[in-house]
Amino acid sequence: DRLIEAQTQANDEGIDRAMRPKKLDEYTGQAEVRGQLGIFIEAAKGREEAIDHILIYGPPGLGKTTLAHIVANEMGVNIKSTSGPVLEKAGDLAALLTNLEPGDVLFIDEIHRLSPSIEEVLYPAMEDYQIDIMIGEGPAARSIKLDLPPFTLIGATTRAGSLTSPLRARFGIPLRLEFYNSADLTTIVNRSAKVMELDIEDAGAREIAVRSRGTPRIANRLLRRVRDFAEVKHQGTINATVAGQALDMLDVDSGGFDYMDRKLLLTIIDKFAGGPVGLDNLAAAIGEERDTIEDVLEPYLIQQGFIQRTPRGRIATERAWQHFDLLKPE
Ligand code: ADP
Repeated sequence: DRLIEAQTQANDEGIDRAMRPKKLDEYTGQAEVRGQLGIFIEAAKGREEAIDHILIYGPPGLGKTTLAHIVANEMGVNIKSTSGPVLEKAGDLAALLTNLEPGDVLFIDEIHRLSPSIEEVLYPAMEDYQIDIMIGEGPAARSIKLDLPPFTLIGATTRAGSLTSPLRARFGIPLRLEFYNSADLTTIVNRSAKVMELDIEDAGAREIAVRSRGTPRIANRLLRRVRDFAEVKHQGTINATVAGQALDMLDVDSGGFDYMDRKLLLTIIDKFAGGPVGLDNLAAAIGEERDTIEDVLEPYLIQQGFIQRTPRGRIATERAWQHFDLLKPE
């Protein structure tokens, strides 16, 4: 596993849960999203209605699940969680929906991976709080309508573009999460350190923050690894030097890059003269799947301006050359 991978890893789940802020005002950054949600929550509470269906999209590890739990918590309702690939049969979804209480939140992670037959069930559920279910088989089969309590569907996705348009159209509140800036990530690291009862200096938190690729999940993971290093080598205090040494040792460089990122960038620079290079060629050259490049490796590098996506392929920008102390040829 890559230390700086934004997707959940085996050890993350307990920690993700423990570090999760429970209130909207403990949720750092994402000012626009927080502002909008605050208003929608207050309005729905005032009317004593379920809040409108919410679609949260953005790269992994930025706080989509956290936000879904915050909405339920602020509304004072239960949350039931599932995910697109897990929901295989229409009956599974029907069971979840019919067990909701008025106002409850149903959270569907990776909602772009729902099968078409499940989506069909979801449409009338979202629109009219009703589902049609088939009972029996063969000629005796018939469909019955069931009323559902008013509920809120919160869908999360890393690929808003892969959602079908009828599904997207049924979400009243689309929220897009952005990568966090280092100031916000520093706040998050400080907060997590407090929860973990660690001794940390602000500069130490900042050193971790700037190498965390704009992603709270990575920041929390790096914090745990730096803690181990600090405990063994430095009586526990995390300052900038300790954090820097630990992360260097773990091969996470000053840009938050590891060998995979460097390999990707250096391949474009060395093998393809800086690009443009098509995705398939690039995938073959570094021995990774197209999807891995597009979903995992590239987003942060593009967002940070190290790679540019053009119609003719990927280009390593001037910034990328500079990162390796190289001069981009004219
Ligand atoms: P996603 O569902 O987008 O993959 P999560 O909601 O699971 O991400 O968040 C991953 C971790 O990052 C959680 O443990 C949470 O503590 C932390 N986190 C995410 N967003 C924030 C935030 N805005 N403030 C503080 N911590 C956050």
